Amino acid sequence: MRFVDEFREPELISKAAEEIRRLAGTERHLRMMEVCGGHTHAIYRFGLKDILPENIELIHGPGCPVCVLPMGRIDDGLSIAQQSDVIFAAFGDMMRVPGTQGSPLEHKARGMDVRIVYSPSDALKLARLNPDKHVMFFAIGFETTAPSTALTMMRAKAEGVRNFSVFCNHVTIIPAIRAILDSPDMRLDAFIGPGHVSTVIGCRPYEWIAQNERKPIVVSGFEPLDMLQSIVMLLHQLKAGEAKVENQYKRVVPWEGNRAALRAMAEVFELRPYFEWRGLGFISQSALRINDKYAEWDAEQRFAVPGIRVTDPKAAQCGEVLKGVLKPHQCKLFGRECTPEHPIGALMVSSEGSCAAYHNYEHRKAAMVSLNSVA
Ligand code: SF4
Repeated sequence: MRFVDEFREPELISKAAEEIRRLAGTERHLRMMEVCGGHTHAIYRFGLKDILPENIELIHGPGCPVCVLPMGRIDDGLSIAQQSDVIFAAFGDMMRVPGTQGSPLEHKARGMDVRIVYSPSDALKLARLNPDKHVMFFAIGFETTAPSTALTMMRAKAEGVRNFSVFCNHVTIIPAIRAILDSPDMRLDAFIGPGHVSTVIGCRPYEWIAQNERKPIVVSGFEPLDMLQSIVMLLHQLKAGEAKVENQYKRVVPWEGNRAALRAMAEVFELRPYFEWRGLGFISQSALRINDKYAEWDAEQRFAVPGIRVTDPKAAQCGEVLKGVLKPHQCKLFGRECTPEHPIGALMVSSEGSCAAYHNYEHRKAAMVSLNSVA
């Protein structure tokens, strides 16, 4: 298959759904975690949950980098940008994420120089265009986006652009999965492996999940048929009592990953000893920092960073949702105090956040059904 339409073909989808029903049987309740926020959105957007048998439960994982960033890091980044000659540059996804004193967009409304960029190299361009200002790029993302940050820093160094720095919040996926598996309140049978991250890291880093934890994992694409095929592959493994890593997304994900991207990351970054994740707490060796060769372009070394630690509002249950212990609508604030218009947690505003996915698709669907029943 070559085109997106073929991955949405109704006949093939119903065949895959039938195969899933046959393989799943009815006896055992199976809990599969989709690690990636992109998968969560596909599940709700295409209504995949509704065509799965009741005994297959999809658990949303921590694979939304904006969602797992604790509020203190947002406050730290914004505190640097309080300085009058600093431009705060970030992806659009970050703009409405709440810090304790408001989101970047709210700071912009109060006069801070906040710009949306579509790539780190856009931020570097901004620095070249504004030589009398300092541009700080608020870098965020898993291994998917870290290589482009690294390449941009290499270019800044090669060109000697000194009014540019990166506030690095890149995190790594494997320690997060390990933390989920170590969590005593979580029982999982299998993993739908992240598609985007795997384009960079490949499939080999997941082998420990299969070997040590005896959990099958299938790296999956994002179209409805991709995800259903991945579930079929997981069910075959579970039925045969196997636990191995398989790659459903071969058309995009190379088994060994992208060596050039990994080399760029190794040139610029090193592992932090530990990093705080929203909901998961401190996880050792789970994030990247800029190494000494690039210290001049490291915002954390160039500026005084307060290292703010902030606990989420008491009633917010972002942590439980991120760990998959609660479904988004089970948070006490969902759809009431916390909405896309007035978000309390990042999960409600990020394009990969599970609360946003649930609100945009399931919640609206339920509202439409109740409106139609009144009409
Ligand atoms: S509804 Fe809001 S407060 Fe509750 S988990 Fe989602 S983002 Fe967090």
